Amino acid sequence: MAANDAGREVHEVRSLVEGARRVVALTGAGISTDSGIPDFRGPQGVWTRDPEAERRSNLRQYLNDPEVRRQAWRSRLSSPAWNALPNAGHRALVALERRGQLDTVVTQNIDELHQRAGNDPARVVELHGTMFSVVCWSCGARQATEDVLVRVRAGEEDPACTARGPAGQPCGGILKSATVSFGEDLAPGDIERARTAVVSCDLLLAVGSSLTVYPAAGLVPLASRAGATVVIINAEPTPYDEVADAVLRRPISEVLPAVVGLASG
Ligand code: NAD
Repeated sequence: MAANDAGREVHEVRSLVEGARRVVALTGAGISTDSGIPDFRGPQGVWTRDPEAERRSNLRQYLNDPEVRRQAWRSRLSSPAWNALPNAGHRALVALERRGQLDTVVTQNIDELHQRAGNDPARVVELHGTMFSVVCWSCGARQATEDVLVRVRAGEEDPACTARGPAGQPCGGILKSATVSFGEDLAPGDIERARTAVVSCDLLLAVGSSLTVYPAAGLVPLASRAGATVVIINAEPTPYDEVADAVLRRPISEVLPAVVGLASG
């Protein structure tokens, strides 16, 4: 696409954003790649480079195979997400919120960077959970991931739940990141909140998602059918580009600030 065409498209989307009163952002891993966290399916994605990693995200494999859990804890230790900082893409959504236009951020991300950037946590729906908490698969006890990582660093390869039962005995259940694995249902309240938000918005910004994971991806046609303007910002084509009113295949941390009027396109 010629530079002028790209500039015109950004300008058009900026007008759509300016005119919107109730915006919902649906974000995916692509908004965080410029914070140093690789996505899954992009050209440098974790699963593109290491298809084995996908196995660790399957609930049944995780619960049934101690080796899968050991690998998962090991790889969690070195995740770049622990020290990642929000980038200009996250900050653009904060600007939209401060202007009173952003209703909800529905995110598939587990990195908490929207909240860290300054979005009101009450406006962020974490469809796939958070990597900063761990839950026990047996007793449901929740704790900070860091408290479990301390044990992994000290040599426990597959740490078990230490919560005490009524008779004082340790639970011993399997600990799992409070993220939604493949084969696991989303929290019903979260997907309901997301659906309510998209059917009542006038602009849906789908940012940095391959739009291939359901039910999150289904929010795009839902918004469109409900009459919202749909803008997709993603480097690669998505299955919903045809449904969108505009598609920007540009780097998010450049183009999102531009479409909210913080930078030139
Ligand atoms: P995905 O990996 O399927 O797709 C990411 C998309 O973003 C790709 O199409 C890629 O081309 C695009 N992209 C990457 N960097 C970009 C950039 N700088 N500018 C423009 N486009 C860019 O991600 P998904 O759709 O979110 O689904 C994957 C699942 O992975 C989600 O369930 C999510 O929970 C999980 N995940 C989360 C994180 C995170 O929290 N940061 C990271 C990896 C995976």
